[in-house]
Amino acid sequence: MLKAVYAGSFDPVTLGHLDIIERAARIADELVVAILENPNKNYLFTSEERKYHLELVTKHLSNVEIASFQGLLIDFANSIHANVAIRGLRNTLDFTSEFQMHLINRQLDTKMETIFLAADEDHLALSSTNVKEVATFGGNIDFMVPKEIREFILEKYKK
Ligand code: ADP
Repeated sequence: MLKAVYAGSFDPVTLGHLDIIERAARIADELVVAILENPNKNYLFTSEERKYHLELVTKHLSNVEIASFQGLLIDFANSIHANVAIRGLRNTLDFTSEFQMHLINRQLDTKMETIFLAADEDHLALSSTNVKEVATFGGNIDFMVPKEIREFILEKYKK
């Protein structure tokens, strides 16, 4: 059985993340989307809000579950008996950092495999940071995030 974990900050979840989730859910028997909680990072949304957003946008995927974690991905993956990590690749910068992370994970735990999924061409320039930048200045974020969560983002920047 292939139990996969797809980790990220998802602050907020983008259409790029959702595409990776949908494709990974077709490959894996079970997919756990794991929200990273880094106490040293300032997030726009709390981990409860990010969990709610991910639950809303993955309602149609019966083998997808949302969880939160702190610490090393490898420890979280072991605790839920996941054997594969899913990562998305947009460009060579992603490739370099993701490949390094994979090698570190392999040093920490030789059983851990990573499946890299190439980003869809429509999502190559999409990141949570870009969403926040555009939203700050009142730009249109419709092509960047799932429609179910647009209002939550706009609400944060309404003053
Ligand atoms: P972090 O916030 O920790 O930098 P992200 O939540 O942005 O991480 O990303 C989590 C994973 O999703 C990473 O593997 C990243 O490469 C991938 N990813 C991010 N944005 C996209 C996108 N637009 N298309 C495909 N994969 C993406």
